[in-house]
Amino acid sequence: MNKKISKIISELLKFYEKTPKHFEGKILGSMTTYPHALAVYAYNLFMHTNYGDPFIFSTLKKMEEEILLEISKWYGETKLYGYITSGGTESNFLSIISAMIKSGCKNRVVLAPDTVHVSIVKASRILGLKLVTIPTNNSPIDPCVLENYVRKYEPCIIIVTAGTTELGIIDPLKEVAKISVEYDTYLHVDAAYGGLLIPFLYKAGRIKQDLRFYEGVSSISIDFHKNGLTPIPSGMILYKDKNDLENICFDASYTLYGKYCGLLGTRPGGPVASVWAMVKYYGFDGYYEQAINMLDLARYTYEKLQGTKDIYVYEPILPIVVFRHGRIPYTELLHRLVLKGYYLYKSPSVKGLRIVVMPHLRKEHIDEFIEVLQALVKER
Ligand SMILES: *Cc1c(COP(=O)(O)O)cnc(C)c1O
Repeated sequence: MNKKISKIISELLKFYEKTPKHFEGKILGSMTTYPHALAVYAYNLFMHTNYGDPFIFSTLKKMEEEILLEISKWYGETKLYGYITSGGTESNFLSIISAMIKSGCKNRVVLAPDTVHVSIVKASRILGLKLVTIPTNNSPIDPCVLENYVRKYEPCIIIVTAGTTELGIIDPLKEVAKISVEYDTYLHVDAAYGGLLIPFLYKAGRIKQDLRFYEGVSSISIDFHKNGLTPIPSGMILYKDKNDLENICFDASYTLYGKYCGLLGTRPGGPVASVWAMVKYYGFDGYYEQAINMLDLARYTYEKLQGTKDIYVYEPILPIVVFRHGRIPYTELLHRLVLKGYYLYKSPSVKGLRIVVMPHLRKEHIDEFIEVLQALVKER
């Protein structure tokens, strides 16, 4: 091999060695996972393609159609419209843009419970809108309270969450959808985390709420790079109405296709191929089984933590387990865990630490973690 290349490769490998890997079982809080080998293959095969140009790369459009046809069924629909995005952040931006273009957005208000993801805060600010948040005290939004806010603020979009980042809370979608119909307001459901869990866990009778396009729901965002096992960046925005999708496409007359959709211009085709491969490989049944396994492991983690002295733990709704120590502040506990090589995330709203059970986690990883945690709290 060319000397220069082999030198660069050996340096790359050094960086790689020092990089935490999911399968080592110490990345416990991040909503990322190790992608499936088939998804990586699909991604690499389509490395040269530009999803921003579906004229030259029309095969991407064909794959997109097949993805939509299949996953529409998962959400109880025959035909949904949608676009592969770079993730939940872009999908959430696009929902707001669709709503703005659709309604004109007179009052320039985005309305959401205070459990809403930070990407909505960011999008509202960048788009020059006012985000009104409704205090919830970490509960699903109360539809009556929401209705009062809708009356008062006349928002151009209501955004609720199906699986909040900090605690996995699912807002009451059916009831909120009724309000959006009554007040003729665009409703977006942020299911970036819960999108590939909720339909399956509901079917299995493990949660009480389903994720569907109830009448009044205009769009749903889901992320494949969280529980879908594809490489980053791959999310999706799903629409019930084709016009809402067209509102996120803009003229680009110099291209053969004639328009650009989404926030990016030139954009990777790899995610389209990898999502296609995972949808074909796992399908409803594969993701169903995975979701149940993850929730079981979260329950196991919950019980283990409950058996740990001075630890208070929240019962998981989705595979997210939040806990705190009776005396050690959560930020300090996190700092100590990081020194042991563990990466948890914070749930600041309840002053706790968060374990998100992702597809790569195993029981052994949890057992090892509990041992480390027990030793750490004993040192005090
Ligand atoms: C992860 C997440 C997002 C952001 O998605 P990215 O893929 O990181 O851009 C938005 N909303 C919720 C509820 C999430 O869990």
